[in-house]
Amino acid sequence: MTDRSTSFDVAIIGGGVIGLAIGWRAAQRGLDVLVLERGEPGGGTSRVAAGMLAPIAEADPGEQPLLALGLASAAAYPRFIEELSEAGGTDPGYLSCGTLMVARDRDESEALERELAMRDSLGLPVRRLRASEARRLEPGLAPSLRLALEIPGDHVIEPARLTAALVAALRHAGGRLRSATDVAEVLISGGRVAGVRLLDGGELRAANVVVAAGIWSGLLAGLPPQARVPLRPVKGQTLRLHDPAGPGLLTRVVRMPPGYLVPRGDGRYVLGATMEERGFDTTVTAGAVFELLRDATELVPGVSELVIDELLAGLRPGTPDNAPAIGPGSIPGLHWAAGHHRNGILLTPITAEMVVAELTGDPPHPLAEAFHPARFAAATAGTRA
Ligand SMILES: Cc1cc2nc3c(=O)[nH]c(=O)nc-3n(C[C@H](O)[C@H](O)[C@H](O)COP(=O)(O)OP(=O)(O)OC[C@H]3O[C@@H](n4cnc5c(N)ncnc54)[C@H](O)[C@@H]3O)c2cc1C
Repeated sequence: MTDRSTSFDVAIIGGGVIGLAIGWRAAQRGLDVLVLERGEPGGGTSRVAAGMLAPIAEADPGEQPLLALGLASAAAYPRFIEELSEAGGTDPGYLSCGTLMVARDRDESEALERELAMRDSLGLPVRRLRASEARRLEPGLAPSLRLALEIPGDHVIEPARLTAALVAALRHAGGRLRSATDVAEVLISGGRVAGVRLLDGGELRAANVVVAAGIWSGLLAGLPPQARVPLRPVKGQTLRLHDPAGPGLLTRVVRMPPGYLVPRGDGRYVLGATMEERGFDTTVTAGAVFELLRDATELVPGVSELVIDELLAGLRPGTPDNAPAIGPGSIPGLHWAAGHHRNGILLTPITAEMVVAELTGDPPHPLAEAFHPARFAAATAGTRA
């Protein structure tokens, strides 16, 4: 039966991993939730993500609050996955595999030593491996390898399976999802959020609207400039590969900045990714594919035997400080969960926890203040809606 309700406690714009996880957790708390997705759930940037849950490999001394958020979300993942599997009955594809950061030459080795020193100074668990030790762990690595760091706590999830599990769990908890439903505008009435207007002209009432539309969050009409979060697309190109000989070429994630190879555990791999600032461009270029394959085959020669299944490009939603905007907007009833840049899959559990605390009136998460959308108010105040 088609669901024709027009009034909800919470309308969530965007059915990527972020919107779906918020929807599931909010429905679990008894809220009447509707997730609105203009395409298919998980068909935006979430579809392109490699799925690394890698706060330690991604650690940047200039982004300490983000590191704390990433570590907290990684710690929440095992329980999140357990509940998700129970709720929806589908396996979200979590692989507890660990990560190796590797260096091929002297310059890269020196850079990797600096990366190690930085992580040691932050008390992050990382182990320095000689090339021979790394090759014992991963025989697929080339003999020319110089140095490696082992990060046993950085794991992986398969975003497509995470999306499917979130959709099932959302429905199981009583939440609703409308695919192929494009939101044109956030409706504001009497100084507070009143709902959304759809592209087909229909209107839905909601006491709360959560903006979780990824990089497209900045394009929604209806919000005054001071209520917005500035976002820029950061393009990433990737290859999906599989090994006709089956699994075993790599068992851990291998990172060779800016690239990485992510095993799915069944002979499939993701090779990524570029970081490009080119607006809303999702073309795949020969040059990027060439460079990614060149670097990967130098480190893992067996990559040249893999079959290419798909070439994909996606847009990371970046804010000016590269950290997400999670929390209340400047209009009552408006909530942001956007700007997760290169860590949206990692940050899914903690984002849902933070937003649902807000929706239910629970005390704010201890890390919430650093990610408050209001930190961009000065940047957006002078721009046009
Ligand atoms: C190449 C690449 C590799 C990445 N690898 C990783 C990784 O290894 N680990 C990690 O943690 N992160 C990774 N990321 C980042 C991650 O993919 C994003 O941070 C995350 O997917 C953001 O999720 P989201 O739900 O906010 O956005 P999206 O997945 O883009 O979802 C937003 C949804 O909103 C919908 N939408 C937009 N506008 C409207 C509208 N007006 N009405 C209705 N629906 C609308 C879209 O169709 C879309 O489905 C990677 C990104 C890229 C590009």
